[in-house]
Amino acid sequence: MLEIKCPYCGKRSQNEFSYGGDASVKRPALEKEISDKEWDDFVYFRKNPRGKHLELWHHVSGCRQWFKVSRDTTTHEIYKTSKINEE
Ligand SMILES: [Zn+2]
Repeated sequence: MLEIKCPYCGKRSQNEFSYGGDASVKRPALEKEISDKEWDDFVYFRKNPRGKHLELWHHVSGCRQWFKVSRDTTTHEIYKTSKINEE
């Protein structure tokens, strides 16, 4: 079982959290005209990296805040957690 350090609450058991996806995906700018393929890529397609990855997690059973986790997908080592607006 992983322990994840919520930037608001501190270390908690993984079962209090929910994975929210790739944190490096950027929504296309609202004023920009994009193709259907660019929109499909944004909505449906994600990389499945091996190694260090930046992810979104939700503290569902705690403060209910979203935050970023830098984690290794092979070893599950967590390098860093940060608030959404932080680096
Ligand atoms: Zn929390």
